Amino acid sequence: MSQVQQLYQLQQIDTEIQEKKHRLGEVLRAQKETAVLLAARKRLETAVADLQSWQKQRQDLDLERQTLKNKIKSAEQRLYSGKVKNPKELADLQSSIESMGRQRSALEDEILEAMIMIEDAETEKGAAEQSLQMLQADWEQSQAALKIEQNELALRVHALMGQRKTRLGTITSQSLTEYDALRKKKHGLAVVKIKNNTCTGCQLNVSAQKEKEAREGKKVYCASCGRILAI
Ligand SMILES: [Zn+2]
Repeated sequence: MSQVQQLYQLQQIDTEIQEKKHRLGEVLRAQKETAVLLAARKRLETAVADLQSWQKQRQDLDLERQTLKNKIKSAEQRLYSGKVKNPKELADLQSSIESMGRQRSALEDEILEAMIMIEDAETEKGAAEQSLQMLQADWEQSQAALKIEQNELALRVHALMGQRKTRLGTITSQSLTEYDALRKKKHGLAVVKIKNNTCTGCQLNVSAQKEKEAREGKKVYCASCGRILAI
């Protein structure tokens, strides 16, 4: 095998290593929770917090109503006990009972509103739970596939590194230095095939003379992109 052919084989290995490493990076990044999943989790957290807040609100209102109820009861007992004789005091008591009655009525409206809000919050919590469960299941399924792919990629890169080491034994240090320098300048692609009189690196025409020399195993370069041409 000519030195150019050896370099072309090395190029094939390096190209695949580059591709596999790139994909490995994508696979690793994809194993983070997606924005959609994070948003669904946030939605559930908000729904739970809302529900708890309304339940607390309702408890407070119930307590307030109970206190008021007791106050009204004792005021009424006093009013009808016959112990209060002063008309002014009686009138004040009457008016206080009426005022507390209005307060209680307003409280009952608030309790009713809180009950409606609790019902809405429970519905929202249920919907948020369902949505999260579905997304979580999808995500876990994709994670399993990604884990398998990650493992396969890592094994393949490992195997390619071994092949690369073997291949390096057939390449002169001078050729390797040139290859490395060319790869750096040419986006990782130093050696390319000629196909249909065309350089597959830049897709431009290769002269018949160059193709002939390449076929003879000589090291020739593409006149357009400067890459080494292989057959
Ligand atoms: Zn070219």
